[in-house]
Amino acid sequence: MREGRIIKVSGPLVVAEGMEDANLYDVVKVGKDRLIGEIIEMRDDKASVQVYEETAGIGPGEPVVSTGEPLSVELGPGLIENMFDGIQRPLEKFREVAGDFLTKGVEVPPLDRDKSWVFVKTANVGDKVSQGDELGYVDETTIVKHKIMVPVGIEGEIKEIREGQFKVDEEVAVIVTEDGKEHSISLMQKWPVRRPRPIHEKVDPRVPLVTGQRVVDTFFPVTKGGTACVPGPFGSGKTVVQHQLAKWADAQIVIYVGCGERGNEMTDVLNEFPELEDPISGEPLMKRTVLIANTSNMPVAAREASIYTGITIAEYFRDMGYSVAVMADSTSRWAEALREMSGRLEEMPGDEGYPAYLASRAAEFYERAGKVICNGKDKREGALTIIGAVSPPGGDISEPVSQATLRIVKVFWSLNANLAYRRHFPAISWLDSYSLYQPAVDEWMGANVSGRFPKNRAEAMELLQEESSLQEIVRLVGKDTLSEKDQLKLEIAKSIREDYLQQNAFQEVDTYTSLKKQDIMLELVLKFYREAQRGLNEGVYLSELENLDVREKIARAKYVSEEELDKIEEISDEISSVIDELINRGGGSDD
Ligand code: ADP
Ligand code: MG
Repeated sequence: MREGRIIKVSGPLVVAEGMEDANLYDVVKVGKDRLIGEIIEMRDDKASVQVYEETAGIGPGEPVVSTGEPLSVELGPGLIENMFDGIQRPLEKFREVAGDFLTKGVEVPPLDRDKSWVFVKTANVGDKVSQGDELGYVDETTIVKHKIMVPVGIEGEIKEIREGQFKVDEEVAVIVTEDGKEHSISLMQKWPVRRPRPIHEKVDPRVPLVTGQRVVDTFFPVTKGGTACVPGPFGSGKTVVQHQLAKWADAQIVIYVGCGERGNEMTDVLNEFPELEDPISGEPLMKRTVLIANTSNMPVAAREASIYTGITIAEYFRDMGYSVAVMADSTSRWAEALREMSGRLEEMPGDEGYPAYLASRAAEFYERAGKVICNGKDKREGALTIIGAVSPPGGDISEPVSQATLRIVKVFWSLNANLAYRRHFPAISWLDSYSLYQPAVDEWMGANVSGRFPKNRAEAMELLQEESSLQEIVRLVGKDTLSEKDQLKLEIAKSIREDYLQQNAFQEVDTYTSLKKQDIMLELVLKFYREAQRGLNEGVYLSELENLDVREKIARAKYVSEEELDKIEEISDEISSVIDELINRGGGSDD
């Protein structure tokens, strides 16, 4: 292919002429250092290239060569437990080869070419196969069975299939198509990141992604295959929410994309994640995790690519029939990269300088989520959940990135600066947040957790909403004007907030609450409410109810470990007996 020449360098944007042979979205090698870039605009023979490495030091006249291929990722064994940058360079390996400073133009393949994997075949010579069909598997980690699937677009008969130890690029099978063409199949395939991987069919996501975070699971659930966003000002807890979900969500595969938030946050992930254990399998959590990191020394443009790299790897595991969750922190950094490139391309700016296509790009990204029937004859189901953080400047969600995101996603966890300031964590506002999956999840919870759960959830939410209007009255005319019944409601709403919604991510037991425990805890709070109402009706004073010692036990139920849930049931029995006592003593009824 003919070489082009640089005519202009503007930060991460390079314009080259003589590029008539190249195509939009081709990956190109830029300058003497052969920096990696991607063509994002073509005009006649002029290509505008988004460069993923530092462009300082390159200048006009230097060569630009197209690879003739779109920006792609390598998919195969070796992804899990690994950490990549925005264009899938393996960070660890890269450091070994290039040193701590990202040496320009250094090429390291994303998947290790030296490592051997044990391939076990599940298909045989003579089998007719088409895209997505399983040929065999590799036990990639102790918990991930990595299916080797027929690549997209290939259909035919297996002519050869082997078993044993293979490196990712070695042939394990040969498929002959109807017209006699032979396709060599290895453990690895490639896929262009900007193109969604094909599926058989999308289906409605109805099963919750269980996160162990009470405010999420109980009030604003996201489904396996659903979409959620977490907008919030600086310091409101976006990253902690994302980390908590990456740690505890019951997804089989987690892809964590750190796109250029504060540098040390990614270091936290790297230090902390390897220490964590999966509460269900007891295995290290890294054994189901892929990290995509853009540290602060990486160019902005790489942030733009990183969410596509992440989502494509996620789709690949979804195609195996897994439930995959992608966390992106923060999509605002991605949008800012888009804005910067758009500005340098001198495109017509839209709202706040963001390009007019911001909303459609965001939509395209979130539309890659879903619960699906995968390609492949076994009709397996896979799910891809996307949870994106958004960092609106000053926390004002009327800005373009928040608005574009909110129009698409089905769950909104609204982080509130006041709550964070009052140290109510997670600072997810119970009044502003919503989940459009609630009806489907209610049904699931009713059938799988307990019949009372959906009713309790609705009752608790109603109390929280009533609290907010009652507080308005209190502000205007004072608490004494409220009936005891209403004052009790305020007490219970406070208990829901403090004893139930507040959850400390850094406390060993409180950090994760199973659905069973959530059900028991919520029932406990509401049981007290019902019993207290009974007490009031029987003439017990509100102050007596408020001062009961058992309330302290209700508050501490969150620290009762999952193995000792009957201790919470004991508190429940105690509530009835202490209120019986108050009633039988005839407390206050004779005034
Ligand atoms: P953001 O990413 O929105 O800027 P962070 O996620 O870094 O905010 O949160 C800021 C701080 O808030 C954390 O360092 C932590 O001290 C506190 N915090 C947030 N969420 C929780 C939580 N669930 N439990 C305890 N502390 C929390
Ligand atoms: Mg953050």
